[in-house]
Amino acid sequence: MTYQELWQTVLAQIQLNISPANFATWFANTKISSQEEGTVFVSVPNSFAKEWLEQKYNKEILKILRALDNNIKEINYRIDFPVAKTKEAPKQPDPQELPAEQLGFAELEVDKETNLNPKYSLQNFIVGPFNELAHAAAEAIIKEPGKVYNPLFIYGGVGLGKTHLLQAVGNELSKRNPPCKVKYIPSDKLITTIVNSIRNRSIDELKVTLRKVDVLIVDDVQFFAGKEKTQEEFFHTFNDLYQRGKQIILSSDRPPKAIPAITERLKSRFEGGMVADVSLPDYETRLAILKQKAVEKNADVPIKVLEYISANIQKNVREIESALNRLLVFQKINDKIPSFEEAKKLLRNIIVSPSKFTNPTRIIQTVSEFYDLSDKTLFCSSRKKEFVKPRQLAMYLLRKELSFSFPAIGRKFGGKDHTTVMHACQLIDREMQESEKFSQEVDLILQKIYSLDA
Ligand code: ADP
Ligand code: MG
Repeated sequence: MTYQELWQTVLAQIQLNISPANFATWFANTKISSQEEGTVFVSVPNSFAKEWLEQKYNKEILKILRALDNNIKEINYRIDFPVAKTKEAPKQPDPQELPAEQLGFAELEVDKETNLNPKYSLQNFIVGPFNELAHAAAEAIIKEPGKVYNPLFIYGGVGLGKTHLLQAVGNELSKRNPPCKVKYIPSDKLITTIVNSIRNRSIDELKVTLRKVDVLIVDDVQFFAGKEKTQEEFFHTFNDLYQRGKQIILSSDRPPKAIPAITERLKSRFEGGMVADVSLPDYETRLAILKQKAVEKNADVPIKVLEYISANIQKNVREIESALNRLLVFQKINDKIPSFEEAKKLLRNIIVSPSKFTNPTRIIQTVSEFYDLSDKTLFCSSRKKEFVKPRQLAMYLLRKELSFSFPAIGRKFGGKDHTTVMHACQLIDREMQESEKFSQEVDLILQKIYSLDA
């Protein structure tokens, strides 16, 4: 392995665990410059990066390096000021300084104006029952920004494709003719910018900049919680854009209602357009995503291994990608495709065999048995009280235990609307909080669902 490959491997792993903004800030223009015995010398562009890498990332970097070569004992970070470019002697490209895209780090190519990363597109976004509502809303917005759903609010857990979808919409719109003026801002960055501009008395300039856009995308707005100044500024910007028919797209790890410490007026703005969730992909979609990523990364992985990963990593897409990266590292170092056995070994500490495992049939059966109903009655549309409650509970459990999307649950229950399902889940949630007895009942059902004898 060359230094470049070694460092690329480290970056590939690090990139999975930190935000794109952090990654770009601390890892741009870093490289391994040399290695002497057990010490690896990493050159960094400035003292901030040196300090951060030493204090925050050293442990992780060392761990990754040692997994590749256990002779490595320590890392020494050195500031390597970029040499001023001279006109006379055009430098030969140094293989250690390959452009970002050749290293495969599209993060570093983020557009300065829009903050969008071109690697996220709708073409490489896989759609399944778990994200189809969000995807359909995104497509509608691309057709008619500012007209159909405003704002579009997408929520769901970590690593489920929210950022990907938001940026894909942004990329699509800024490619238009004439292009829309798009701005993508992670909310933590927006918070810092607002705080700084209040301090520097440049808030009016910031307002002007934000209000010049046609499409404003703010990612992870749950971070607005408790940030009063930001909420206030954002509220006015939101209103201004909204009134002029500009599109606003937001994401969060939870629905607007569940974000703590944000003002009611902002919450109601968040809810005023379309709220769509993304949940966990099912097996088929996980496999489809994995195949797509394998093609993108040029990874030649046996299908049996891809199936193994899809069957065993269920939590989120980011983890699926990280499993694939591990196999790629192996391939690079050993110059061969890992066999099924080797792959299993490599993935051992990502894949823990689930002690808890269930499926939809089991949930439906257990709930019907518990309430002494047949499966069929559970699916019928009778509004009798003795049927409604178990039906709502079954919906709730499909959501909670298997992370089914709301539309997918609706379909399972004879084509019910996703809002009906959302409502059912909220009711059950509330009743569990309010009634000790009901909450114990649910516990009992869960025990039955997960008990081994059945
Ligand atoms: P989130 O913002 O919800 O935490 P991201 O959008 O960052 O998640 O997704 C994590 C990774 O998984 C990204 O590399 C993204 O490209 C990939 N990913 C997630 N969902 C999909 C999907 N439906 N199709 C293709 N890739 C996906
Ligand atoms: Mg995200």
